[in-house]
Amino acid sequence: MPKNPEHYRAMQLEKPGEPLRKIAQSISELHSNEIFVEILACGVCRTDLHILDGEIQATTYPIVPGHEVVGRVLAIGNEVRGFTLDERIGIPWLGHSCGHCSYCKDGRENLCDHPEFTGCTRDGGYASHIIANAQYCFAIPERFSDAEAAPLLCAGLIGWRAMRMTGTAQKIGFYGFGASAHIMAQIATWQGREIYAFTQPGDTERQAFARDLGCVWVGGSDEAAPHELDAVIIFAPVGSLVPAALKAVRKGGAVVCAGIHMSDIPGFPYADLWGERSIVSVANLTREDGTEFLAAADKSGIIPTVETYPLSQANKVLKRLRDGQIDGAAVLVPTLDA
Ligand SMILES: [Zn+2]
Ligand SMILES: [Zn+2]
Repeated sequence: MPKNPEHYRAMQLEKPGEPLRKIAQSISELHSNEIFVEILACGVCRTDLHILDGEIQATTYPIVPGHEVVGRVLAIGNEVRGFTLDERIGIPWLGHSCGHCSYCKDGRENLCDHPEFTGCTRDGGYASHIIANAQYCFAIPERFSDAEAAPLLCAGLIGWRAMRMTGTAQKIGFYGFGASAHIMAQIATWQGREIYAFTQPGDTERQAFARDLGCVWVGGSDEAAPHELDAVIIFAPVGSLVPAALKAVRKGGAVVCAGIHMSDIPGFPYADLWGERSIVSVANLTREDGTEFLAAADKSGIIPTVETYPLSQANKVLKRLRDGQIDGAAVLVPTLDA
């Protein structure tokens, strides 16, 4: 293990509702399947706000949040294969799956009965260093800077899984245009699909951002799309958008809820669901999603829009995210504190 533990630091959440506190980080011994990583960048995800607010039941407190981690390998456990010292790697939300429950056996490790999640049940990337199970880490395409790569690891990846659930849909509505939507708008456009971006009513700045990224139509969530959509992905954690989205999709269309938490969904007439419309959620990721998405992100030529901040400003950044003040994705960079 590297020798300067006095420099290890993290921003930790003691319990819901409190601000993160800077702590000196203690690093445990490395298990044979783990890697020890110096963090270069960590994305700030809306899920982190839900963890702050105590809305994710699985969370174990105290916790160091952060599950979009890009870092450099400093030490490798005995049984780790496929990674080398100094290599740049990514650590996503799924930190471990059991491998023997019915979901794991069925290729759906995202639904594992005994999972671990980075920054939720094991310490995450709001830190200078981290230990990760190497089997759940990804190589990062060279084309992306550290900060650009960070939001790919959840915002991009979960968006990719959500997009897959729309099947061959050509005209797709996005409700909410934050970190995930801004990446997926670029990917979908590259795939030849049309994206219709619904923002908060009156948020013309965000609508201009969406148009710049290739969306064919932009408007407020209180407006109707110019014609029926094949599918909708709801990125915003707002349950009242579900009935609105159902009205926007054509027969057979899917409404995909991409967030881990959402406010309650109000009642709506069965007629709005009729016609084989469906409402589905997207949960977590599989490693296959990650490998597939990172290859597509590399090939597509997309560039995530990022705002970088020193790690010590995590509380300020989370507030900016909560207030809707981040265009694209916010990323914490430990070395900016130097
Ligand atoms: Zn399992
Ligand atoms: Zn996330």
